[in-house]
Amino acid sequence: MLLKNRIEKDLKNIISRENLLFDKSELYCYSEDSSNSRGCTKIPDAVVFVKTIEDVRRVIKYANEHRVPVISRGAGTNMVGACTCPRGGIVLNFSKMNRILDFNPINMTMAVEPGVVVGEIKKIAESQGLYYPPDPSNYKVSTIGGSIAQSSGGASAFKYGTTKDYILNLTVVLADGTIMKLGANTIKDAVGYHLNQLIVGSEGTLAIVVEAELKLIPKPESRRTIIGYFDSIENAVSGVNNIIRNRICPSTIDFMDKNSMLTVEQYYPCGICYEKEAMLLIDIDGFESSMEQQQSLVIESLKKANASNIQAAKSAEEIEKVWTARRSSFAATAKLAPDVLSDDLIVPRSNIAKMVCGCKEICKKYNLKVCLVGHLGDGNIHPQIALNLDNEEEFKRYYMAKAEIYDLAISLQGTISGEHGVGVEKLSYVGNIVNNSTLEYMRRIKSIFDPNNILNPGKIFN
Ligand SMILES: Cc1cc2nc3c(=O)[nH]c(=O)nc-3n(C[C@H](O)[C@H](O)[C@H](O)COP(=O)(O)OP(=O)(O)OC[C@H]3O[C@@H](n4cnc5c(N)ncnc54)[C@H](O)[C@@H]3O)c2cc1C
Repeated sequence: MLLKNRIEKDLKNIISRENLLFDKSELYCYSEDSSNSRGCTKIPDAVVFVKTIEDVRRVIKYANEHRVPVISRGAGTNMVGACTCPRGGIVLNFSKMNRILDFNPINMTMAVEPGVVVGEIKKIAESQGLYYPPDPSNYKVSTIGGSIAQSSGGASAFKYGTTKDYILNLTVVLADGTIMKLGANTIKDAVGYHLNQLIVGSEGTLAIVVEAELKLIPKPESRRTIIGYFDSIENAVSGVNNIIRNRICPSTIDFMDKNSMLTVEQYYPCGICYEKEAMLLIDIDGFESSMEQQQSLVIESLKKANASNIQAAKSAEEIEKVWTARRSSFAATAKLAPDVLSDDLIVPRSNIAKMVCGCKEICKKYNLKVCLVGHLGDGNIHPQIALNLDNEEEFKRYYMAKAEIYDLAISLQGTISGEHGVGVEKLSYVGNIVNNSTLEYMRRIKSIFDPNNILNPGKIFN
């Protein structure tokens, strides 16, 4: 690979100086993201703030010619090391490529550049009574480019799906600088392979997304949040099954375990009944006229599963208070130890109780503090483990626990990520879940898109 000095000199010839970073102190923070990637990353050689498709094309062509890795970066909030720099290289920073290109309320579409923050898309859609549902819980900072690349989900996936369900058309730049449009601007498209869906979740390893046409839907008129507490996770799962049997489709069915409730209440007191084993947070939405009926069916379902302290939040302030508690669980867990690592497992809903209980047992066996939260409706749990990464012995215990938790998810017909992706963090476990012939095909697809392996190398698989 080229020396840093040469890359610096060459980039100055193709990108204006004010959009380049080369100082080690400035580059340092681009070597990490929200994962624990220590040891799997290097300081990049340069950061380029791209502003146009032409900027992206110029940098990619240069990098491809000289075999320099290119790592796209949104807000850097992914939790799997997906935008770390294991081989150094050039980081493309999309924070200046953040325009809304078109908003068409009649067609219910919005065209955006990759650096637009997801929360901004939601806000603009809502100004016209429309809705962009995908909601990674940090949507106020994460970007649409990062969401597309990680196929982000969130609490409302139970009813509304994830990012992949809202992508109509993508404009991408390939490793050789070719610009391609993948998909159509229409709600349906049955012409050829759906290559846009191949890019979703590809973690910046196949192509660089430079524009996205998103699908919007009408925003439900009303929303309510119902919470209920349970003496066991099994009862909480029965509550969920009863709701579905009652033909209610909540937008969200989230949960917190006893430790998460206790930890949140300790640091952000908000009146949670932490003596219970599990709490369900259920959002219903739709026409105001349907709210009372939906709410009473949900309450009936929860009661049948022996729930206690059932409460319904109606006003925006009450709803926000409940959800702030749930969203604070990561920050609260972070107060238990110097570091916190959040994982992401998913199993069929019929196995979720076994997954939650097994996860707790594994963490107990390895003497690790764990707070469990997740999207129970989807079967998706996030064990948040508080530890000290500088304590080698503790880290070893964490590492063994993590492998056992993954094995458990696989043995329960699940998989090792429902929404966070693979990055470098889960790379060595991919072979346990994806068989060799499938992996071989994935590698072949990668080599067609990126024969010189310059796009985010060392992510997903080696
Ligand atoms: C507190 C917290 C809560 C979270 N909650 C959730 C949650 O509920 N659900 C969920 O799914 N995730 C969640 N995440 C993970 C994270 O929010 C998502 O992965 C997010 O979508 C990443 O967006 P980003 O802008 O930070 O992307 P980055 O982390 O910057 O990048 C992510 C990936 O996208 C690639 N990329 C970025 N831009 C482009 C582009 N233009 N073209 C091609 N590739 C690109 C990068 O190379 C990298 O592989 C959470 C993270 C945190 C820290």
